[in-house]
Order: sequence, then C-alpha cells, then structure tokens
Amino acid sequence: AAKQRGKANWVRFTAGMERPVVADAQLGAELRRGLELGEFRVVYQPLVDLNRRQVIGVEALVRWHHPTRGVISPADFIPVAERTGLIVPLGRFVLRETCRQAAVWLAEFGPSVLQKAGPNVSVRQLHDPDFVDDVRAALADSGLPGELLVLELTESAVLRGQQVSRTLHELHDMGVRLALDDFGTGESSLSLLRAFPASIVKLDKSFVDGIEHHEEGTPEANARQAVARAVIQLAGALDLDTVAEGIENEEQAARLQRLGYSLGQGFHLAEPMSPDEVAALMAGQRELDAA
Ligand code: C2E
Ligand code: MG
Ligand code: MG
Ligand code: MG
Repeated sequence: AAKQRGKANWVRFTAGMERPVVADAQLGAELRRGLELGEFRVVYQPLVDLNRRQVIGVEALVRWHHPTRGVISPADFIPVAERTGLIVPLGRFVLRETCRQAAVWLAEFGPSVLQKAGPNVSVRQLHDPDFVDDVRAALADSGLPGELLVLELTESAVLRGQQVSRTLHELHDMGVRLALDDFGTGESSLSLLRAFPASIVKLDKSFVDGIEHHEEGTPEANARQAVARAVIQLAGALDLDTVAEGIENEEQAARLQRLGYSLGQGFHLAEPMSPDEVAALMAGQRELDAA
C-alpha cells in the first residue's frame, strides 16, 4: 500500500502539479469563498513605447487580498483555480473589470495611452462554451472597442485542438486581438504562428534576462540575443506587433530597442500598479503631451 501511495504521489508531483489533491480542495474552497466575497483585485502593468517612453496600454494581473494571508500572487493560486475550474468565473471577473477600467481610462485620457488593454486567459476559459459570449458582453457593457482588447494566451493553451481554434477565430473575427504570451518558451512556436490568428507576440523574460551582457560575448547572452532577433524578424515578416517582457534595467531596454523592439514591459519601465496609480501616470503623460 505504501508503494502504491508512493506511486500515486509520484504521478501527482511530476505532472507539473505542485500541490496534492487535499490542499487543492481546501484552497479551492477558499478561492470560491474569496470570489463570492470580492477578495480579488486587478492591478495593471503599463505597456511602454520604448522609443518615446510613454504608456500605450496595460496588462491586467489579478491579485488575491486574502483576509489572513495578505496579498497572494497569481503563481500561488492560478494553478489551483485552473484545476478546480474556478478560473472560469475568476477569469470572467478579470475580463469584465479590465474592460470596464480600460473604457474609463480611454474616455478620460484618450486613445494614445490606451491602445491595448488585456487580461491573461487560461486554456480552461477557452474551453468554456460561453467564453466568446462573455467577451462580447464585457465589450458591450463597458463600451470598450474590441480592437483595444488584447487577450494574452500561452502557446500551450493555444495548441489544444479544434474547439479552441474555432473560439480563437471567432474572437479574431470580432476584432479582438490575441497575444502569444511567454513567446519562445513553448514547444512549437513557429508552426503555431501560422495557424493562430495572433496579432502580438510577447518575447519571454527568459530571453531578456542577461541580454545586456552581449558585448561581453558570453554564450548565454549571445543565444538570448539571437532568439530576440529571430523573434522580431519573424514578427516583422508575419506583420505582428512585439512586446519584450521583464525589462529590469536600462541596458536591456536599450539593447532591445536597437534590435527593433518598440514596445516593452518590466519593472524598469513600470511595475504592476493600482488603478489610481495608473490614472496618475496617464494624467502626467497627458500634461506632457499638452505642453
Ligand atoms: P505573465 O502574463 O507573463 O505576466 C508577467 C508577470 O511578470 C507578472 O507577474 C508581472 O508582475 C511580472 N513582471 C513584470 N515585469 C517584470 C520584471 O521586470 N521582472 C520580473 N521579475 N517580473 C516582472 P504576476 O502578476 O505575478 O503574474 C504571474 C503570471 O500569472 C502571469 O504571467 C500570468 O501567466 C498569470 N496571471 C496573472 N494574472 C492572471 C489572470 O488574471 N488570469 C490568468 N489566467 N493568469 C494570470
Ligand atoms: Mg501575460
Ligand atoms: Mg508574459
Ligand atoms: Mg511570463
């Protein structure tokens, strides 16, 4: 029996699942309660035009304000939300909140600071038969133009099957834009780009880390730079926008700019922040524009 239990655990822990079932059930129950009580908030990380150093949009990132555990980051609860299916109502909340907030900023600050606004979307949501209707309703209720909504999907999410492909094409036909997140980390990035109606690729942070050491000629830095260059060339050929993720210093920003990246995201440019902080940033930029 011990051996069997050991084997069961082995399966659990190696299938990319870091928590056993019991903990899932408990955290799942807390997630459900947290959703009912409104404990989730959305923060926004600015997307920055690297040449002009201006905000042109935001990525929406969820946070859980747990009554006893404090603020919990998505890495600690999204996997459980996905396994329990709670990502569907949670994702719907983030989607609706992002559209509502983006429409407010669009009205207040104009289209130059709000060219793109988007939540991350899990594969479970793409399999939800109501997903396309949810997106349509979120746009209609908020008044946000569909072209401004960018849904961030990972390659592994997009890879799966006919139904997902149909959903993505329906969204594309509605004018909603699709971004391939963490690009370069998946298994078949190139073939995927042909089949998938993406308009944006987001170069994963792992290719940005250390890219500034290129001059020193370390093999790792050279390899990252080669990937960054290949991605921007590919994106150019396929007429896709690119965003470089996880920029942590000016040297990285400058190098990516030189490689042709015009959009970036990262702690060096702007951290994820509350809606009030985003509004203050956008207001400051409007004054600069007017001056
Ligand atoms: P992501 O979509 O790739 O989001 C970028 C993550 O990198 C965010 O972490 C952001 O805070 C962090 N980041 C941004 N700039 C930097 C930087 O310069 N350095 C470093 N070290 N990190 C940076 P966060 O908010 O903890 O989110 C982690 C992941 O959780 C996201 O990765 C996304 O996959 C997932 N996620 C977040 N919110 C949601 C959501 O509402 N729904 C779903 N399905 N997934 C979400
Ligand atoms: Mg993302
Ligand atoms: Mg990302
Ligand atoms: Mg990422």
